[in-house]
Amino acid sequence: MTSPNYPSHECGVFAVYGHPNAALLSYYGLFALQHRGQESAGIVAHAGAQTSFRSVKRMGLVSQIFKEKDLEELAGSYAIGHVRYSTTGSSNLLNAQPLSANTSRGQLAIAHNGNLINALSLRLDLEKRGAIFQTTSDSEIILLLLAQPILKPEATHPLGALRQLEGAFSLVIMGEREIIGVRDPHGFRPLSLGKLDNAWILSSETCAFDLLGADFVRDLEPGEALIINESGLHSEFPFQTKRESFCIFEYIYFARPDSNLRNINVSQTRVRLGQELARLHPVDADLVVPIPDSGIYGALGFSEELKIPYQPAFVRNHYVGRTFIEPTQLMRDFSVRVKLNLIESYVKGKRVVIVDDSIVRGTTARNRVINLRQAGAREVHLRITCSPHRHACYYGIDFPNPKDLIANEYSMEDLAAYLGADSVGYLDIEGMVRATRLPKESFCLACFTGEYPIPFDTSFDKFMMEEQENRTSFLPERA
Ligand code: AMP
Repeated sequence: MTSPNYPSHECGVFAVYGHPNAALLSYYGLFALQHRGQESAGIVAHAGAQTSFRSVKRMGLVSQIFKEKDLEELAGSYAIGHVRYSTTGSSNLLNAQPLSANTSRGQLAIAHNGNLINALSLRLDLEKRGAIFQTTSDSEIILLLLAQPILKPEATHPLGALRQLEGAFSLVIMGEREIIGVRDPHGFRPLSLGKLDNAWILSSETCAFDLLGADFVRDLEPGEALIINESGLHSEFPFQTKRESFCIFEYIYFARPDSNLRNINVSQTRVRLGQELARLHPVDADLVVPIPDSGIYGALGFSEELKIPYQPAFVRNHYVGRTFIEPTQLMRDFSVRVKLNLIESYVKGKRVVIVDDSIVRGTTARNRVINLRQAGAREVHLRITCSPHRHACYYGIDFPNPKDLIANEYSMEDLAAYLGADSVGYLDIEGMVRATRLPKESFCLACFTGEYPIPFDTSFDKFMMEEQENRTSFLPERA
């Protein structure tokens, strides 16, 4: 079998049920979710039972992909959409989503955010039974499982097939007569329900509802399958109940600041993360400078707490995009250089605290410290609004191999020296959790603690590590 690229999928999903401009709404919805994936995007739409599903998927940004004539082609009242970021190797059009198929049960399309941890065994099992895969993505396994004729007792209900999945999956599924939203029983990734006029909307993040002028109705619950059809809304809970394990990194970095996750606003959480950090690692300084955009709200909280002036001295060129999504090395190096420019006059001779949300390989932090030193800053203190990243994420956030995570390479004292900073301070787990105002037990903290909510055997871990070794990382190489 081909080796699928499992460590993947930082994605966004979106769906519209029952609006005459479903594809157009999806286009705007995906536009709002663009930060969740910038490599490819797609919309599949149809105009009701017995009409063919139409699909437009391309590589690139939402604004580049869809032209007016595409949206005309996608006419209909039902649509699902997807934005995708994947690791190198699987960044091809075949893997772009939504994935669709003609099955014995009719037409079917799915869009997936998350990462399955038993994809390898499920795929082998399906291949043994004659399945032919078109893509290397684990999402196709979900499509095939849903398409299977009902053979196994556990799959007496079409959604019963999903019980075989292990890992993170927030899904939107479109059949000929319904749209279904599903969250895995751990609820790793978000998925919310909204309403616009008489239409129902599903979105990875609530910021898409704001853009459309839709009302937020509620989040889907972990383990919930919400079926939307002619008779309205109907919830099922096809999975065994598990401990909720919502990804805390959605609050820290990944989600958009104007989204609410579990009814808690992301930007306000980030301000509280900065306040917690200031209490844990105070510093005597003249200015608090955010690393834009990820450090902005944390820096605001830090400055507020210690009454040190906030100064956005780095100016971001918004047309570059997040450095981490660029698939080629040439582009990555280029992006790191062009992304931020420092207004030197603010920092010359000053004691500066720079705040960012996280350090992965240390490239960003190290470069910013160099910029500040070159501009004549007298002291540079680095403050990070999360704990040190030391472990892999198997549930949908892409981090490099743990051996390349800077926190595994240096002790805290040596790290400051390596980064060229006068001091480095990370927030602790308790402070991170307090800032969310949600119970610690409801979070996945695995990338910080190494405690994985779903047990896996070590051969899986080895397989994942090898996969990561074999790919060119998405993150900028260390300078
Ligand atoms: P690095 O330069 O490798 O230390 O990466 C840290 C920067 O990347 C920070 O500014 C973060 O906001 C951002 N970041 C954090 N997590 C990720 C991730 N999983 N993928 C890409 N970028 C990330």
